[in-house]
Amino acid sequence: MLFFFGTRASKIKERKLKRTTCPYCQTQDSFVVSTFSKYFHFFWIPIIPLFKTNIAECTHCKKSYDKVHFTQEMQRSLDNENRLNPAKRPLWQGCGCLVLVAFFAVMMTISLYGVYMRSKNPEKYKIEVDPRLEFLNADIDKLSSFVQAKDTVTLALKQCVDDDIVGGISTEDIAYFTKQSGDKLLILLEVRDIKKINTKYRKELIAVIEDCMRYTNPKDSITQYFIGIEGKWNTVLIKTPFDEDLGGRFADKQLLLPFYGEKPIVKDDKEMDSVLVE
Ligand SMILES: [Zn+2]
Repeated sequence: MLFFFGTRASKIKERKLKRTTCPYCQTQDSFVVSTFSKYFHFFWIPIIPLFKTNIAECTHCKKSYDKVHFTQEMQRSLDNENRLNPAKRPLWQGCGCLVLVAFFAVMMTISLYGVYMRSKNPEKYKIEVDPRLEFLNADIDKLSSFVQAKDTVTLALKQCVDDDIVGGISTEDIAYFTKQSGDKLLILLEVRDIKKINTKYRKELIAVIEDCMRYTNPKDSITQYFIGIEGKWNTVLIKTPFDEDLGGRFADKQLLLPFYGEKPIVKDDKEMDSVLVE
């Protein structure tokens, strides 16, 4: 198994240990000590240097000793060597750190440059969003199964729908929202147990609403109806003067957006509010 990060060691120095005797073969001045430097790597790029280790080997009997098994004599000799001829850690072992620092510096510079460019030339960097969708989502959030008495349009619709609807739907759970804008009326319904109606008959709900609107005729001034029916999880039916999506499973709620006006060309937030009908 390969490890993409961890520690590695590299030999950084080799020195002779003077005035020592191998405890095993009794040969004098036969030790060569190798100094290794450990470092932390990520994808084999050294990131952080860690600690140094020393291993002494007797050139005569080939026996090796790690630091904890050094004799006092060997330790003294090594201390002496460290003073006169220290084993310095190579610079490259920390280069990953430098690479990381440089990487973050570059990223910072790029993002700051982006912020600067956007502030200098806001037109070019504007994000393409249709704010009408925000209004629609806000209205969908206002769906409620409790209709206030003063909300006469919704109340009349609810009473009519309650009388007309069939198919085991519990009418008291249906949530309503209506909103008038000029000659347009937005009608949103939420039928959470819509799955009780066979998919191919779901569009009858739209027909019921249209009939009810004709019957209750709330205001003669209204000529355009934008009807959307929400299921438990998503929009399932849409009918507007321009479009319809009556498959009964997933309808594109964006078809309702013309209720909120033409798609604004100006994308500046402040100017947009004045374009939209509220
Ligand atoms: Zn030896």
